[in-house]
Amino acid sequence: MLYSRRQLLGLASTAAFASAVGKLSVPRSLWAAQQGASRDRYDPWIEVIPDALAHNVGQVRRLGGSPILAVVKNHGYGLDYRIVARILEPMPDVAGFAIVRAEEALALRAQGVRKPILLMARAADADVAELVARDIMLSVYADDDPGRLPRLARARAPIAVHAYLDTGMSRMGIPYHRALPLLRAVTGNRAFRLAGAFMTFTEELDFDREQLARFTKVVDDAREAGMTLGALHAASSHSVFHHRDVGFDLVRTGMALYGSYPGDFAVERPMAELRPAFRLRARVVRTDRLRPGDSVSYGRRYIAAKPTWVATLPLGHGDGYPRTAVNGAKVLIGERLHPVIGAVSASHCIIEVGDEERVRVGDIATVLGPDHPDIHPNVVAGATGSVYDLLMHLNPSLPRMVE
Ligand SMILES: *Cc1c(COP(=O)(O)O)cnc(C)c1O
Repeated sequence: MLYSRRQLLGLASTAAFASAVGKLSVPRSLWAAQQGASRDRYDPWIEVIPDALAHNVGQVRRLGGSPILAVVKNHGYGLDYRIVARILEPMPDVAGFAIVRAEEALALRAQGVRKPILLMARAADADVAELVARDIMLSVYADDDPGRLPRLARARAPIAVHAYLDTGMSRMGIPYHRALPLLRAVTGNRAFRLAGAFMTFTEELDFDREQLARFTKVVDDAREAGMTLGALHAASSHSVFHHRDVGFDLVRTGMALYGSYPGDFAVERPMAELRPAFRLRARVVRTDRLRPGDSVSYGRRYIAAKPTWVATLPLGHGDGYPRTAVNGAKVLIGERLHPVIGAVSASHCIIEVGDEERVRVGDIATVLGPDHPDIHPNVVAGATGSVYDLLMHLNPSLPRMVE
C-alpha cells in the first residue's frame, strides 16, 4: 500500500479533522514517515488514527461526564504528543492538555496549541519565567513554591497554578494533611491565580474511596475558609471506568484516549468501546523456508518440527516491541495472523508463516492496531505485560504519520 501525501497529512480523514489537521505545518517526522511507508523503505513506523481519537474522546466524555484534560505525557503515550495535541485540540470535549516535561509543554505552545496546558511537574528554576510567559499552568505543591514561583516568574499578571494534592500516592503533591496552609499561601498572594486543584488515585479500589474523602475534606475546608480553588480534577482512565462520581470539573485521562483499557480488559470492554488510535507497522524484509531441525534466533528457542516458512520484520525491542512478544503475541499480514517466535532482538523479530509461502518481502505487517482483535494493544499486553509499557516504550524516534 502506498500513501499519498494527502493521506499522510490527514486530509483523507473526516471533514472536521481534515480542516484541523490540514493546518499542520508538517513536522519532519511525518515526511520521514512518508518515506518509511514507501515500498522500498524498511523502517518501522506508527500511524496515528484521528477518527479513533475522536471516538475515544466521545467515550471518555460519556463515561467521565466532564470535559477532558488530555494527558499527552511520555511522547503522547507513544503516538507523538505534538500530533495528538494537533488532532485533539479542535474537539470541544477537550478542555486542555496535561504534560510532565517542561520542554514538551513549550513545544506544544511553539506549534500553536492555544488551549490550557498544565505542567504536572516541578518546574526548574531556569524554566519558570518562560513557562509562565507562554501561559503554561504550573503545579504548586512544594513548601518553597509560594515564594519561589513569583520570584522566578517576574510576571505582571498573576501566575496560573493548580495545587497538586497527595492523598495517598506519596509520589507528587503536598500531603493532604498539610495542604491547607499551602492553599492559603497561594490564594492569599496576588502573584497567583489558583486555577485548579488535583490529586491522583492509587487505583486500589477501596483506598481510592479513602483518597476521595481526603481530597473532598481539604476542598470543603478551603472553601469554608473562603478560598476559591478553580477546577477540581482527579480521574485518570481507570477512575473514569471504576468511579463514576469522581468526574469533578475535568477528567484527566491518557490511556483511554489512545484506545486501550487501563485495567481489566474483560471488565472494562463492555463499559465502553475504545478503538486503538494507532498502528505499529513494518515491512517484511526476509522470508525463508526452514528445514526440520533449523532453529530461530538467539537462544534457539524455536526449532522447526517440519518444513516451515518464516518471515523477518525489521522491528525489535529497541523500537519498543517487547521481548516478551514471544509469549503469544501475533502479527497481522493481510488477513492472517502469525505468531512471533524465537526471540525479539534489538531491531528484528521473526514470525512463523506456516507450510506455504504466504508472505513476501515488502508486505506490510501490523503489530499493534485496531485491525484485528488479536493485535489490540490490550490483547498483545496480555502476552507481554502492561499495556502502559507497550505504548510508552514505543521509541520516540520511530516515524509517526497521520492516517
Ligand atoms: C499519567 C497520568 C494521568 C493519566 O493516566 P491514564 O491512566 O493514562 O489515564 C493522570 N494524572 C496523572 C498525574 C498522571 O501522571
